[in-house]
Amino acid sequence: MRKLIVLTASCFLIASAGAFDAGQPPPKPANIKSIHPPNPSVPGSASSKEGKEGKPAAGAKAAAGKPAKLSAREQEEQAEAELSAKIAERLAAMRANQAARAAAAAKAKKDAAARAAKLAAMPPPRANGTHWAYEGEFGPANWSKINSDWAKCGTGNRQSPIDIRDGMKVDLEQINFDYRPSAFSVQDNGHTVQVTVGGGNFLSVQNRMYELQQFHFHRPSEERINGKGFEMVIHLVHKDAEGRLAVLALLLERGKPQPAIQTVWNHLPLEKRDIANPSVVLDPNDLLPQRRDYFTYMGSLTTPPCTEGVLWLVMKEPVQASPAQMALFSRLYPLNARPIQAGSGRMIKESN
Ligand SMILES: [Zn+2]
Repeated sequence: MRKLIVLTASCFLIASAGAFDAGQPPPKPANIKSIHPPNPSVPGSASSKEGKEGKPAAGAKAAAGKPAKLSAREQEEQAEAELSAKIAERLAAMRANQAARAAAAAKAKKDAAARAAKLAAMPPPRANGTHWAYEGEFGPANWSKINSDWAKCGTGNRQSPIDIRDGMKVDLEQINFDYRPSAFSVQDNGHTVQVTVGGGNFLSVQNRMYELQQFHFHRPSEERINGKGFEMVIHLVHKDAEGRLAVLALLLERGKPQPAIQTVWNHLPLEKRDIANPSVVLDPNDLLPQRRDYFTYMGSLTTPPCTEGVLWLVMKEPVQASPAQMALFSRLYPLNARPIQAGSGRMIKESN
């Protein structure tokens, strides 16, 4: 530490002397003179400085009168030279340190950039959320981002529901219903009221036999017919032996009470996600309209994961339900319908 102070002081002195050399008047000439006494035996050093200072005579006189002091001055000169060498050495070391630090900082910056580039090149982490809703942050526009397995909700071009229009009127084969009174369970699953139906209920169409799995409700209707929406819709979800899905949509309009819907409402569990297993049976035939004309197109599930390849069968004739029956559902789910999806040039067929 003491050495450093000496070095720093020397630096200051050298700087001062430099300024003095450059012709600026020193603040305290007397001090400078005492530390750097004139030395005529070393031409071009102290004596030349003294010359510039304009007092060569006094220095010359002192040197001439005391020859013994020359060796002391020489020692002093030597010490000064050594000091200068030390300062130069120290400055070089400082510069080297500075260069090393700058190099280290540049390397760290380069490494950070390389890490960032590596991260950017990696695939994004898989989303695995399970919570979805019909509005807000977890609403339909964001379903595809909540879970990586729900990508189709955002990128699919065979999504449901759609506005059913410009159907090709053809002689569509009749849907063959083979429904029977069945055991059932009822659950409010947080998205809708869902009724799971016991096995043995089938519909057949296009040479395939699909078994009814469950039916559930949406308000308002998800699908539209030529732009017209309905107050509610029932979706009856069927599956064939190979796992292919067919959904039968029954549009609901205000009218007389619907007995099968009433049976479901009667057995609603008090708590969400609780499952009621009533001791009565429910006949899905009671839900069907009289006329069996329908629209058909290929679409998807209307809830995550929005799986495509679903055969949609939308009955043309709406089914009636009473205002009280509809009001009851609206207290639970005022809105649980996915918005209309792009038709993307899909073929729609309808019964003549
Ligand atoms: Zn549905």
